[in-house]
Amino acid sequence: MNLDDWGWSPFFAEQFAPWQERGLLPARVIRGEKNYFRVWTESGELTVRFAGKIRHHAGGRADLPVVGDWVVVEPQPDQRGLIHALLERKSCFARNLPGRRKGKGRERIEQQVIAANVDLVLIVCGLDRDYNLRRIERYLTLVGGSGAEAVVVLNKADLCDKPEQRQAEVTTIAGETPVHSCVAKENSQLDFLFDYLQSGKTLALLGSSGVGKSTILNGLLGEEKQKIGAVSEAVGKGRHTTTHRELFLLPQGGILMDNPGMRELHLWGEEEDLAESFGDIDKLASGCKFNDCAHQTEPGCAVQSAVKNGTLSGSRLESYHKLKKELANLQRRR
Ligand code: GDP
Ligand code: ZN
Repeated sequence: MNLDDWGWSPFFAEQFAPWQERGLLPARVIRGEKNYFRVWTESGELTVRFAGKIRHHAGGRADLPVVGDWVVVEPQPDQRGLIHALLERKSCFARNLPGRRKGKGRERIEQQVIAANVDLVLIVCGLDRDYNLRRIERYLTLVGGSGAEAVVVLNKADLCDKPEQRQAEVTTIAGETPVHSCVAKENSQLDFLFDYLQSGKTLALLGSSGVGKSTILNGLLGEEKQKIGAVSEAVGKGRHTTTHRELFLLPQGGILMDNPGMRELHLWGEEEDLAESFGDIDKLASGCKFNDCAHQTEPGCAVQSAVKNGTLSGSRLESYHKLKKELANLQRRR
């Protein structure tokens, strides 16, 4: 297995060049623990720790490696190693750290990076009671701000009377993002995903619990999941075989990230991210009388007129206002 299969690309190779002369190795983090990380290198899986001085220099949590990151590693005997640096991320998913209150009345928000270098996110939603356009907008906003691409997968089409209509509805809010519907529990219906798989490309699943993420994951991994485990065993010489990975090589090519934090991400981003997920509102806004129109009660608001004449749905605008407020609050507290 070479590093390209694991997503190595010129973007990372360029950053790594200065380290190469020092005999260090590039490695991808496949699992992160509190004090150590499991990484994949050209010479197999290693358990690595931070070289003490690097940890000290790390500015905050966001500078510590997470699943998907590329790091610079100094190999040591016994399938171990030391991390010397973290390479810049191509994309990054983060959330605010829950329940962190320092002292009375001083709520501190800290960014917790969940996953890095994801290329494509499958936003999975159920066509059963889970179906919720507003939630899909939220996910699209989140992915839009991360640097990754998105695909919407409407699952459980078998439980819906009018899946085509739902798919059309979602397409109107999804902009350029492709929208598919399927019955994931019928394996053959997952074939459309093959178009998105490509060697070295990292996919992740995002969606509420019960929408079918594991079903899709197992469908894609098939029986190969066992084989991947076997490879890991051979490489680790039976030493670390119990460690479970969160990055899997797919038999069809590509890498699938299955990381618990990534599955249930909450909104973290910038107000500017809304321009991407709400491109229609952004476009309308250029027709507003005031440059800084908040699209509430201002005179000459092109967005409000679009709601009045029925070209923009009122609930979509509501959802936009809600997300905007949430993001503004986050930004202020950060
Ligand atoms: P996760 O929590 O998102 O990982 O969801 P799971 O993959 O565990 O699926 C939750 C439940 O939905 C399981 O009982 C699945 O068998 C079922 N399920 C998954 N895909 C489909 C589908 O396309 N149609 C129906 N009817 N059920 C499905
Ligand atoms: Zn306006």
